[in-house]
Amino acid sequence: MSAPNESLQNRVLVALRSLILSGEFNPGERLTEVSLAEKLNVSRTPVRLALATLEREGLTESNATGGYVMRGVTPREIEDAITIRGTLEGLAARMVAEQGPSRRLLADMKQCLAEGDELLSQPHGATLDDYTLYTEINDRLHALILEGAQSEVLERTMAHVLCMPFAAPSALVSGPATEHQGIRWLIIAHHQHHALVEAIEQGQSGRAQAIAEEHVNIARENIQSILANPEIAKKFIPVIRLQQPARDQDFVRSMRGTRSAKSSF
Ligand SMILES: [Zn+2]
Repeated sequence: MSAPNESLQNRVLVALRSLILSGEFNPGERLTEVSLAEKLNVSRTPVRLALATLEREGLTESNATGGYVMRGVTPREIEDAITIRGTLEGLAARMVAEQGPSRRLLADMKQCLAEGDELLSQPHGATLDDYTLYTEINDRLHALILEGAQSEVLERTMAHVLCMPFAAPSALVSGPATEHQGIRWLIIAHHQHHALVEAIEQGQSGRAQAIAEEHVNIARENIQSILANPEIAKKFIPVIRLQQPARDQDFVRSMRGTRSAKSSF
């Protein structure tokens, strides 16, 4: 059978990844090519390729019979992914500051800041729509800095890290985390964005790196507040493997044969 075209392959991968992240399957559950192909209304080939890609991303794992099961992620993995993103974001910010941002890049970054300023100055306070809007601004600014570093190796490495669950800059900005934290994190994040762009503009590479690394602590705090409540964690991070009491038989079954979840929070 010939390889599926790239855009179809990508669509299947994105669809399958979002199904997994939305909690469609339980950790340990078998993922069969036939049923997934039916569900997505595609042939088995792109599903098979997507399952292999998702294994490299740590979301699925192959079993003894050559099929795949839903793997589930541990809190430690999420924390590590956030930490590594912070290191890479710091590196990107340092590179842009050292190389000096182009006039165009600076203007685009300042446009993101201005849009954030306007959003946060609204008298009624932040609504859920505002969070969504800020998420887009946030993603744009982070993408601009990465692009500005002009390093293909860094971009490829970051792309790999961003495939890990909850590693992306905006992965934790809506849902219970925001309801719980309110607008506080938005204000801190926005303030850090300002400081970051200022450091880059002024060529303060060490400061830019430190701010970008510090910036991911907001995601870390959000994940910690979610994990502090297992009920919310299960709902909000359905793919997570938390340590559970032995009476939770489904969970125990899903854990059989896998290494135990270790929480570092
Ligand atoms: Zn940000």
